[in-house]
Amino acid sequence: MRKTRIASIAAMAAAAALALTGCGGGGGDAGGDGGGDSVKIGIKFDQPGLGFKDGDKYTGFDVDVAKYIANELGFKEDKIEWVSAPSANRETLLETKQVDMIVATYSITDSRKERVAFAGPYFIAGQDLLVRQDDTSITGPDTLKGKKLCSVTGSTSAKKVSDSYPGVSLVEQGGYADCLGLLETGGIDAVTTDDIILAGLAATPANKGKFKVVGNTFTEEKYGVGLTKGNDTCEKINTAISKMIKDGEWEKSLKANTEGTGYTPNADLNPPTPEPCA
Ligand code: GLU
Repeated sequence: MRKTRIASIAAMAAAAALALTGCGGGGGDAGGDGGGDSVKIGIKFDQPGLGFKDGDKYTGFDVDVAKYIANELGFKEDKIEWVSAPSANRETLLETKQVDMIVATYSITDSRKERVAFAGPYFIAGQDLLVRQDDTSITGPDTLKGKKLCSVTGSTSAKKVSDSYPGVSLVEQGGYADCLGLLETGGIDAVTTDDIILAGLAATPANKGKFKVVGNTFTEEKYGVGLTKGNDTCEKINTAISKMIKDGEWEKSLKANTEGTGYTPNADLNPPTPEPCA
């Protein structure tokens, strides 16, 4: 009896050790030296048409671009682990290797390049304004004096307003959907970020008819694939982006994900050509 018990404890310990070893072998390292069996990709969870989580389903143009790239890197869809990447957390998520890459309406900027690397761009958007449907007073950034504006912490959109439009009072939220709630109740007068994000949010069944995109863009936002510095995947990702554009999948996805939103991409800038990797 006693002997049996000791034997089974030993067997359990051996099984636990095996399980641990198995666990250590997993995890994604697509941004590192290869050999990982999964890839962790940061996307937005709250931007309809771009990166959106609905139960266990992930949809949007960013999601399609991410899936295409992952597949080209050898990761099938079931090997992708989707991670929420709010605007303010993106650099840290990459630096701390909580994600291998970020495809989340992430503009390529010089200041971000001090902390992370970018492949792409795979799309070019422009900063715009969203106002209540009946508002005729706001027609562009020069009509914002004395108005309350909402944007998201850590975004280029918030930075642009505080740098270039000092007379505007800026309210910062964690995500753009939070700003729309404030716009509806009158707590703020406008929401600002990229036109494609605003169009997607305004077109959801819950928001339909309540808001309008002003349609007067005042920046160029080059969406890149965020990577860790010193990565060895940038070239491969640029090749994947070019392939996606060439084989028609890029256009197909963009169309499907903006359908019914009234959004038309800037045809002078899109599709873009990926920039050389640093
Ligand atoms: N593209 C801009 C940025 O990277 C605004 C959208 C966002 O916050 O993701 O900051």
